[in-house]
Amino acid sequence: MIRFDLRCRRDHHFEAWFRDNAAYEAQAAAGGLSCPICGSAKVEKAIMAPRVAKSAGRVPDTRPAPVPIPAPMAKSGSPKEAQALRAALEQLRDHVEATCDDVGEAFPEEARKIHYGEAEARGIYGQASEAEAEALAEEGVEFSRLPLPRRNS
Ligand SMILES: [Zn+2]
Repeated sequence: MIRFDLRCRRDHHFEAWFRDNAAYEAQAAAGGLSCPICGSAKVEKAIMAPRVAKSAGRVPDTRPAPVPIPAPMAKSGSPKEAQALRAALEQLRDHVEATCDDVGEAFPEEARKIHYGEAEARGIYGQASEAEAEALAEEGVEFSRLPLPRRNS
């Protein structure tokens, strides 16, 4: 005798014993099988889940999947891209140094003078502290920040 786990069309699971698989097939083909719960004759062998999944008392993992933390922007580019960006910035700095007056730490003062027409309008470059840069921006003085240290020369 072998036991089959059977399932009707309404998903009732039940067990039935047969002499062998052929006996089951014959009885099923003849419509001699019916669900003991609802009486449906539409009965088939249930597909059993592997025992491993049923046992072991493992609690399903319902924790949300970990969200990937984006890498900091500075690290997102490839080394090649970073190199290209740096080269472009260095080119810009070279251009600025070649075409503008270096006023050094007098930059905020000089930029203001040019802005208010107290000095000759020309391109200048130099240093400004964060606070000075903010003050200049508030006054509407146009300037750009060059995100590169000055060349050590
Ligand atoms: Zn049923």
